[in-house]
Order: sequence, then C-alpha cells, then structure tokens
Amino acid sequence: MKWETVVRLKFDLKLEEGTRIGGSGGGLEIGELVDSNLTAIRNPANDEFYIPGSSLKGKLRSVLERELGRTSNNGREPCDCGKVDCMICTVFGAHKKTQPECGVTRIVVRDAFMSAASREEFRKVGAAGKPIVEHKTENVINRSSGAAEHPRTGERLLPGTVFDGEILLHVYEKDDAKKMTGFVRHGLGIIQEASSLGAGGSRGSGKVSFVNVREEIVPLEKLTV
Ligand SMILES: [Zn+2]
Repeated sequence: MKWETVVRLKFDLKLEEGTRIGGSGGGLEIGELVDSNLTAIRNPANDEFYIPGSSLKGKLRSVLERELGRTSNNGREPCDCGKVDCMICTVFGAHKKTQPECGVTRIVVRDAFMSAASREEFRKVGAAGKPIVEHKTENVINRSSGAAEHPRTGERLLPGTVFDGEILLHVYEKDDAKKMTGFVRHGLGIIQEASSLGAGGSRGSGKVSFVNVREEIVPLEKLTV
C-alpha cells in the first residue's frame, strides 16, 4: 500500500441555528444557571468556541452508515467489516477490526476554529457587553402527567457563526480519489440538507451549512517545509 496524494477539502462551516457542541463543564457564565454538562466546548488555549474534528467526523460517519445500512451489532456500533469495497471502513477506518483488508483510515477531520470575521464579530459583541452564546432551556415532559420537569439550561453557539473547516483524505495507490472525495462531500450534503450537528438535532438545534467548498489535490512528494 503506497500513499500517493492528499485531497484537501476546505470549507466554511456556518451555523444556521443555535448549535450545541458539548464541553466538559466549568463554564464561565456569571449569574446564569447553566447545567455544567451543557456548556459549549471552548479551546483551552484562547477560550474561544470551536467545533472538534471528532464531532464532525462522527456525524459524517453516522449519516453515511445509516444511508448505506452499514453498521454492526444491529446498528448499535459502527461498521467493522474492514472490506476493500466498504467505503465506510476504507474512509473512516474499520472501527475495532485490527487488520482490515481495506487498510488504514483515510480521513482526517481537523478541528474547526472560528473564521477571522466571526472572531472579530465576537470581539465586538463581547466588548458591547452582549452575550456571545445563547441559553436554551429544555424541559423533560412527564408523559403521563404532561407536566414539565427538570428544566435544564444549556449553551448554544450563535447562529451565523462561521468556522474554518478542513478535511483531508489520504489517497493510496489503488484508491479512487474522486469516489472517496465525492463520498465525503455527499455526507456533508446529508448533514446540511437532512440532519444536524451537535446535540438536540431533533429539537431545533444544529442546522449547519457547508459553503465555499474548495478542493485541492496535493501530491505527497511535493510536500516540504
Ligand atoms: Zn465496513
């Protein structure tokens, strides 16, 4: 298996609705009762919001697996067939299988940090003392009494925020680069048109769009610093 090229996909990941990408708690809000499990994830280096590559990669894999009906353990676990003709295992890796026929994982999904324009917008909003995050309270409805119980407040990233997205595909000698790239772009299309990112997608959270998608093919032999 010889690694030959890299396909680099760059795009703007734009939030069309408030989006909840969970952090690990310890939010800095003052005077607000935000459930510690429902704070938005922030980059520890600069305290800015970001979209972890693992969130986008997981969603991408899951929508494509569902479309193809390729999962294991009755839909409870990712596909682990490891077959050469399985696009899921080839692109995303064969889950728990240690020596799959399809070889190594081809995809790398980078963490998506805020675009320069969104960062500037946040700076202005913050300086004006306005909130840089939405608070959404959700109730759990008791099905027999119809009463709302246990309201929990979570943070959502603001609609309109744009993140710089990047996905790489490692292309090996026998791989069909066009097919793999098309497969990933198709998955992004499903997320955009028919699904969501982050938590609460069935309740009006996490509609996103992928705009200004650029595609570049980089021969490995050209890379240097
Ligand atoms: Zn598979």
